[in-house]
Amino acid sequence: MSIEISREKCVACGACAVVCPGTLIWVDAAAYIKTPDNCWGCASCVKECPRGAIRLYLGADAGGRGGKLSARRDGALTHWSVEKPDGKTVEITVDSRESNAY
Ligand code: SF4
Ligand code: SF4
Repeated sequence: MSIEISREKCVACGACAVVCPGTLIWVDAAAYIKTPDNCWGCASCVKECPRGAIRLYLGADAGGRGGKLSARRDGALTHWSVEKPDGKTVEITVDSRESNAY
């Protein structure tokens, strides 16, 4: 697994680099992944990016070849989008107030 980072959307805030458990992301004028082969697809960086600049490539078991996962934050809500290889998109919304309620 690995990610792609949009240099056009990235504002170099560094939030993705802070949360990456493998210290794989570096930031200069924009963020970039230094060793993509070491990414294990936790999606922390995708969720944390305030600009929706990161997309995670999904394996065949989670979206199929060419599928990509992105996220958009809206307060307590995170809107996850899976872009399928056939062009269709599935969106799942998670409310952190509910998921952290127990
Ligand atoms: S998906 Fe996880 S391991 Fe991969 S770059 Fe993002 S934070 Fe790091
Ligand atoms: S969190 Fe998003 S905007 Fe911030 S450095 Fe990473 S990719 Fe760029």
